[in-house]
Amino acid sequence: MSGGDERTVCIVLHDAAPSTRSACVRTLSAIRDVAGDAPVTILAVPRYHDETPNAEFEAWLGERVRHGDELALHGCTHRDDGTPQGWLDDLRRSRYTRGEGEFWSLSRSEALARIDVGIEWFAKNGWPLSGFVAPAWLLGPGAREALIERPFDYTATLRQLVHLPDQTPVTSQSVVYSTSNAWRRTSSLAWNALVDVVERSNPLLRLELHPRDADFVAVKSSWQKILERALRRRKPATVAEFMRRSRPADAGTVWMTTTRAD
Ligand SMILES: [Zn+2]
Repeated sequence: MSGGDERTVCIVLHDAAPSTRSACVRTLSAIRDVAGDAPVTILAVPRYHDETPNAEFEAWLGERVRHGDELALHGCTHRDDGTPQGWLDDLRRSRYTRGEGEFWSLSRSEALARIDVGIEWFAKNGWPLSGFVAPAWLLGPGAREALIERPFDYTATLRQLVHLPDQTPVTSQSVVYSTSNAWRRTSSLAWNALVDVVERSNPLLRLELHPRDADFVAVKSSWQKILERALRRRKPATVAEFMRRSRPADAGTVWMTTTRAD
């Protein structure tokens, strides 16, 4: 992997939509408290839980782009509408992803149709588009096929960033919190402290935040500490910028897989 000796931290904010915007603003302001004007990759959802993007929300995103943030496409509705294939699949889809794994079971053509809604939305607003990140990072085989048919530079899973179309992976475990209940919050804190230590030798640290991650004091102070420490030794960059820098010179081989790449 190229990119020299430079160490990078990517700050990513998931699930930007009209209904999450005020929570996103709180999290972005908590990022700014620690990281100043560091650029953030904002994962925008075109039809989050079927809501329609309004002009005010689009103006806000446009403003973020003008200030150096990246917008990446994050699914279409963010909802998994498919029929579970047996009890294990049902458990995984309803409990692990809370029904948010929209791109897990789509066929290639279904995935293309949803991806194209997002591509059109970005084009209409004049926003540059490099990356697609599936909701809950769950990218099924049909969605993988669809992705390489559109001009994306990268996608991501929980444990990897993936160059497109060649699918060369860059391994980096995300620091990510679960805030849905007290038990999950507590175990998130311990888990992320461990990820932070393990990933210190990795040239890339990924801090993946959700809109409500500034609303719980212990969660906020955990990621702010990790970010503050990371910024002493790492330069912040958007995911698009990091992927441009780390693109292998010889990115010829396309491998297809039917399993998750993380
Ligand atoms: Zn999401």
